[in-house]
Amino acid sequence: MIIVLFGPPGAGKGTQANKIVSDFSIPQLSTGDMLRAAVQTGSELGIKVKAIMDSGSLVDDATILDIIEARISEDNCSDGFILDGFPRTIPQAESLDKLLSSKGLHIDHVIVLDVDDSVLLDRILSRATASTEVRQDDTAQVLSRRLKVYNEQTAPLLPYYERQGLQRIIDGMQGIEEIGQQIYKILQNGK
Ligand code: AMP
Repeated sequence: MIIVLFGPPGAGKGTQANKIVSDFSIPQLSTGDMLRAAVQTGSELGIKVKAIMDSGSLVDDATILDIIEARISEDNCSDGFILDGFPRTIPQAESLDKLLSSKGLHIDHVIVLDVDDSVLLDRILSRATASTEVRQDDTAQVLSRRLKVYNEQTAPLLPYYERQGLQRIIDGMQGIEEIGQQIYKILQNGK
């Protein structure tokens, strides 16, 4: 089962991805986590992407696609995976479709977590306070840039997936448990 978890920064994609990982035993592929790991280790990739991430802009599509293609080819992805934070642009979505179809695969569900911008700011700022791991991009200033980028470059993916009949919109302002149950139902029925 291949799932895209879709929503703006702070929508709760990571939290819900963790739950799906344990319920369905498929790995979470977060491009944000992969890039942060690269920054941490100081690899060539990390050095290249750090300033872009800190500013709240998007890393270029070719770099992201290389990372995802390599990760999807790993053994533990053979029963499916959850994409968290990818795709984020139309070219990324088109390339993903091509990549999957070249392997005889396809996306099963696009779960959209719908959350108002005003709620996102509060959530991200409390994530920044609660977390021991400091994210340079979890600040009010960078968040407004990330939301702008989301609305301009990522939100256009919604009609793209709607046309494919894959999109399932969930009210992301409900409690974590309720959201989790709704996602579970969708995935359980469509397995
Ligand atoms: P995230 O943890 O998903 O919010 O990602 C943190 C940052 O990593 C983003 O603000 C981007 O700079 C970069 N990033 C993560 N995923 C992507 C992607 N699919 N395309 C471009 N940039 C990405």
